[in-house]
Amino acid sequence: MHICLFDIDGTLIDTGGAGQRSILHMLEEEFQVSAPVEGIPTAGRTDHAIMTDLFKYFEIPNTSENRKRFETGYLNLLAEKLKEKQGRVLPGIKSILEALSQHAHVDLGLLTGNFEHGARQKLEHYDLDHFFEFGAYGDHHSDRNDVAHVALNQIQERHAPELLEAASIWVIGDTPSDIHCARAIGANVIAVATGVYSLEELRDCEPDYLFAHLEEIEPVLSLFPPPENKN
Ligand SMILES: [Mg+2]
Repeated sequence: MHICLFDIDGTLIDTGGAGQRSILHMLEEEFQVSAPVEGIPTAGRTDHAIMTDLFKYFEIPNTSENRKRFETGYLNLLAEKLKEKQGRVLPGIKSILEALSQHAHVDLGLLTGNFEHGARQKLEHYDLDHFFEFGAYGDHHSDRNDVAHVALNQIQERHAPELLEAASIWVIGDTPSDIHCARAIGANVIAVATGVYSLEELRDCEPDYLFAHLEEIEPVLSLFPPPENKN
């Protein structure tokens, strides 16, 4: 059994900046602030962490009411920006997901920093949502490692302990945070340099496998062989 946890942005899709545009636009509409916010990194981080940093940066009180305004405003704009921006499903992804989803020995989930509803909107827009049976999201945690632990809990609920003992868990992502959070739960990692990090930067974090892109699907699929027949 292989359990594959996919990151979204930079791994499955490139939204053409729709997510970031939605955040900036929402800040203007909801909180009447606009400024360059390059100092706040987004890649590999949770939406909860990004929101917390933005509130601090703009001195917006971090109250539950403001968090709700942030999230609702962002989600309302996201659908529109996804249509506006020229995004795409990254090379090879659709074929890999189609192949893996046909195997009973592979379980497909999400491990992402996105708000759950944001993740859903993005994947629905690119018609990838139906591949994933479960997911851990960035609504409540600033630390990506905590999201990985949520994913691990879900995996433990989904599968019997004896099955999990022989299972391998994989994280597939495009940032050092994906690699580190995989290690936090003892998972294998496939890193792919289709996001903002270069091959060299990812190599420094020592993933188990590293690809420039996933266009050639065979080398990826070969990592998830069916279990050996024990008869
Ligand atoms: Mg990513």
